[in-house]
Amino acid sequence: MLWVAIIGLVMTVLAVAVAGRRALFLFKLATVGPPAPERIEYAKTHAADEAKAQLVEVFGQKKLLKWTPSGVAHFFVMWAFFILLTVYIEAYGSIIQGAITGRPNFHIPLIGTWGVLGFLQDFIAVACLAGLAVFAGIRIKNEPKKLGRSSRFSGSHLGGAWLVLFMIFNIIWTLFLARGAAAANGNLPYSSGAFVSLALGDALPQSALLEEIALLLHIGFMLVFLVIVVNSKHLHIFTAPLNVLFSRRPDGLGGAVEMRVDGKPVDFEDEDLDPERLGRGKIGDTTWKGFLDFYSCTECGRCQSQCPAWNTDKPLSPKMLILDQRDHAFKVAPYLMAASTEHADKDVLALLEKPLVGEEGVIHPDVLWSCTNCGACVEQCPVDIEHIDHILDMRRYQVMVESSFPSEAGVMVKNLENKGNPWGMSEMKRADWIEELDFEVEVVDEKMPEDAEYLFWVGCAGALEDRAKKTTKAVAELLHIAGVKFAVLGPMEACTGDPARRLGMEYLFNMLAQQNIETLNEAGVKKIVATCPHCFNTLANEYPQLGGTYEVVHHTQLLSKLVDEGLLTPITPIEEKITYHDPCFLGRHNKVYSQPRDIMSKVPGVTTQEMHRHKDRGFCCGAGGARMWMEERIGKRINTERVDEALTTNPDTVSTACPFCMVMLGDAINEKKNNGEAKESLEVVDVAQLLIKSVKGAS
Ligand code: SF4
Ligand code: SF4
Repeated sequence: MLWVAIIGLVMTVLAVAVAGRRALFLFKLATVGPPAPERIEYAKTHAADEAKAQLVEVFGQKKLLKWTPSGVAHFFVMWAFFILLTVYIEAYGSIIQGAITGRPNFHIPLIGTWGVLGFLQDFIAVACLAGLAVFAGIRIKNEPKKLGRSSRFSGSHLGGAWLVLFMIFNIIWTLFLARGAAAANGNLPYSSGAFVSLALGDALPQSALLEEIALLLHIGFMLVFLVIVVNSKHLHIFTAPLNVLFSRRPDGLGGAVEMRVDGKPVDFEDEDLDPERLGRGKIGDTTWKGFLDFYSCTECGRCQSQCPAWNTDKPLSPKMLILDQRDHAFKVAPYLMAASTEHADKDVLALLEKPLVGEEGVIHPDVLWSCTNCGACVEQCPVDIEHIDHILDMRRYQVMVESSFPSEAGVMVKNLENKGNPWGMSEMKRADWIEELDFEVEVVDEKMPEDAEYLFWVGCAGALEDRAKKTTKAVAELLHIAGVKFAVLGPMEACTGDPARRLGMEYLFNMLAQQNIETLNEAGVKKIVATCPHCFNTLANEYPQLGGTYEVVHHTQLLSKLVDEGLLTPITPIEEKITYHDPCFLGRHNKVYSQPRDIMSKVPGVTTQEMHRHKDRGFCCGAGGARMWMEERIGKRINTERVDEALTTNPDTVSTACPFCMVMLGDAINEKKNNGEAKESLEVVDVAQLLIKSVKGAS
């Protein structure tokens, strides 16, 4: 049996050397770019959250299990990797023991003859085979040739995936052959439990040679698989747990990441700041976390299948956004890692200097500017890839270095610069809505009034846009009825900076945010209620990056609490069928799903029906990511797609909780009415409007 041990160990040394060389290459490539110390710091300071994420997402496969049956299949295949490590310990132990004693009957000390372990090994191997069959079925059913872009595998490397399924299959059948042959020869360490191996042992002839060849085949397939894994998308087996570890918690949603230069938060006051270093312009500007995202993508296409841009025929696929960068990085890797490019020819230099975004770039501008920052991709990604971070960093470079962005958005930028709101209206108009109320609203005069509990952050839309003003007045009235003392900033309030930041204009965001934080801090604000989910998200999740930390709630959270406490009592029935649209920055970005629904459930007479895509799978209205301020020229309009979906529920009313969603859905509904595709009475309202109607009994 000596020859078996020699062949087995030589194969192992060779395969580990090849795989190790590749791992070293991947490490070096990932670390060519700027550092990301904040990611390590974050993992350290959020160790408990990160440990929980490993348990829930990696070992528990929480995200994948939402996608039954592929999630169940993946669960078993992944656990097979862990449990069958014990079979490899036995296999290596057997070839070594066989070489020494002539009998390959090694068992793991203490637990190695325990029937439960034998059962677990056989069970998980059978479950893995079943998982492979499910994967094959899913791939055949979702064949891109058949389904075109509606297949989530469209654009993925299909050959590699089939090869990996084939290799895992080979590992499992050789496992059973080796264990069956061992059982036939009396070398299997289990006398019970290993139900398949023992049954095979009864069927197979006694043959030492068969056992030796089967052992080598089993080890050999695993080693070939190892080499394939580190050279393919299946690298995620090793990188996904790392990517989960270094991702933000609870996920890469909520606040946008701070812009950094050389790992430090950007300081626009710094005279030495190199303006060419803002954002990401070339692949070499990618941090190791970005590379970890590239290495972790399994090409499963779950992100793509949920993306509103992709689903309305735009060129943006979040999956391809990651894969195109990854493929380009591999293409230029030798040059990127070279100490010097002094003697490189001009083609090499051109490849290295290839812009990340551009007509001739790695990513087409139409791809970059199609994103609504809705977060559907990040929410679904089973390996916690943070697509929005990539998009924002590329936008930052385009906007601040190249001055290249959709021209329509330029008007919004100018208005923010000059007037502090995207519409360019006078700041004095910000308090006009107050005059339409029949009670007093306190306006902050430098300091918050002593008796005011909340600062009501009205937002630009809430103060200046006619439809959103109705929500503002409803919320103010409800707070007044409930006896909640609040004040507003009035003309002192400026845009939070969300549209500027999501466009990539970090400088302008910083300016507006600092101005607001100064106002809020000087006024002594502690608690804020906001009606706009974009304001809510920025105030709660982004202002702390700049020293503004407040307790921020969305109006639906506060109103739901007031209803629960009996301070607001909806009494007048509203006999309507309502479908609720989840605003992305309230739902996915901040996980506020239940409160708006709770409010509606308390209004007598209301019947609700969910749209097919709701809660964490809700479909964007098309306004996020500063898309509100850009023309939508490619494909079907996202708001039209959403209203088409709403119409399938035959609603009397569409409700939501965001001024931008109100505008986008309202526009699409009006278009449908004009075309005779929606009833004249159909309207879109904020849940606060429903509540005030029921509380006051107004018509
Ligand atoms: S954030 Fe939304 S629009 Fe942007 S890539 Fe992800 S799913 Fe698509
Ligand atoms: S980015 Fe995530 S969801 Fe999208 S294809 Fe890759 S692994 Fe799948």
